[in-house]
Amino acid sequence: MDNHFDLFVIGGGSGGVRCARIAAGHGAKVGVVEARHWGGTCVNLGCVPKKIMVQATEYGGWAEDAAGFGWDIETRGHDWGRLIAGKDREIGRLNMIYTRLLENAGVRVFEGRARFADAHTLLIEASPLAPEAAPRRITAERIVIATGGVPAVQPHIAGQEFGITSDDAFHLPARPDRVTLVGSGYIGVEFAGIFAGLGAETSMIFRQKLPLRGFDEDLRVALADAMEERGIVRHSSTLLHRIERQGDAFALTLSDGRRIDTDLVFFAVGRHPNVAGLGLERTGVRLTETGRVIVHDAAQTDEDGVYAIGDVTNQQNLTPVAIAEGHMLADRLFGGAVRDWRLDTVPKAVFFSPPLGSVGLTEAEAAARGAADIYAARFKSMRHAMSGRNRFTTIKLVVDHASQVVLGAHMLGEDAPEIMQGLAIAVTAGLTKSDFDRTVGIHPSSAEEFVTLRTLTRTVGT
Ligand code: FAD
Repeated sequence: MDNHFDLFVIGGGSGGVRCARIAAGHGAKVGVVEARHWGGTCVNLGCVPKKIMVQATEYGGWAEDAAGFGWDIETRGHDWGRLIAGKDREIGRLNMIYTRLLENAGVRVFEGRARFADAHTLLIEASPLAPEAAPRRITAERIVIATGGVPAVQPHIAGQEFGITSDDAFHLPARPDRVTLVGSGYIGVEFAGIFAGLGAETSMIFRQKLPLRGFDEDLRVALADAMEERGIVRHSSTLLHRIERQGDAFALTLSDGRRIDTDLVFFAVGRHPNVAGLGLERTGVRLTETGRVIVHDAAQTDEDGVYAIGDVTNQQNLTPVAIAEGHMLADRLFGGAVRDWRLDTVPKAVFFSPPLGSVGLTEAEAAARGAADIYAARFKSMRHAMSGRNRFTTIKLVVDHASQVVLGAHMLGEDAPEIMQGLAIAVTAGLTKSDFDRTVGIHPSSAEEFVTLRTLTRTVGT
């Protein structure tokens, strides 16, 4: 078979699959190679299994809360093995859907690990997905690097080899009794919620005073309170210094000298672009010092005909962003009309219980740009007035003082991601506070609070 392509994509994850499918739909001759698992991080080691595990935790909370509504529910514990088996079945189903989608779109599918021989030639060799594959060579007019990212471990810590990362956490044989997470980005926060929700004694060690650096400060404070309510112990403004093995458990020493005993150390300290072994040195593709592929307009790298999309460019590491970049690139190269995506109002969610949702500017970002009006509220939802759970909802709008355009919306509370998707349309469209005010609410809901925020909380950035 002719092994020359109009477009060849390295990486069958969120961005790569979308790019390949759309390009093939435009009539291009397209191939895609995957080394490990179809669907990439999101399907196999990210969004999908994570959300399944978060959902698993919610049933425990609902069973407890049901008493306030008159139910008498007795739970007899949680079967970790059954959850993991169910999750793996669902992922297997999704893996097959991905290859089928590609083949139905007319994309030639390769299994193996690709590396550049030169800017238009790739060698494909055996990999975990295709351990027996004979080496192959393909050439292409254009090549897309969509190789994603890999989890980092904290360097320079004695005993760091005893820690796991999110890649391992999805396949633990049993739920550990005591878990310590290092790092408080969204992956650390979500897994703290998962382990605590499934009954583990959970603690977090992190450098900042509050978890979730980069999110709105009020949400970070609300999250710290919510963690308290969930019984998660926070060791904030602290670093991990040493991990020592003690039989099946570990003794951790913190920067302030405190010691913690735990059964599992989980590094959630960020992710690196996945460029190792790609042979980029045989191309003109340039990397930053931190190893991300440098891209210019339209995903173009420093090598003509070589493009990069998604997490390997380490910009906004989210599935819908990788998908949008892949789609846009395919349209640009082969389709003509390019949809006008706005990547500065990408909504974000953190699937803690209760979850967080955010879109647009935080209060601090808006204040740094000029005067901004802040509307904020904190309340107990009807559900928790009944359940008796000490859980609060926090909502906030950040509004440009002069134009009254809503620059940001933030929420911690049940259904925040679902609500934020709708509000993201309003923020992307540049609607004003008066557009929110003239919108009638849905009652009774938490979402209606976003259209009934009448009292200015404060004006900042003046
Ligand atoms: P990936 O999906 O990582 O795909 C890259 C693929 O390339 C991989 O399958 C890899 O095996 C393959 N590959 C690498 N090198 C080679 C090679 N040399 N040859 C062949 N194949 C190769 N995002 C969200 O939007 N929402 C979430 O809730 C969310 N939760 C997450 C939770 C966790 C724990 C993690 C780790 C990530 C999460 N993300 C989430 C981020 C999301 O998974 C990524 O942003 C997204 O998968 C990036 O897509 P991508 O196409 O850039 O790369």
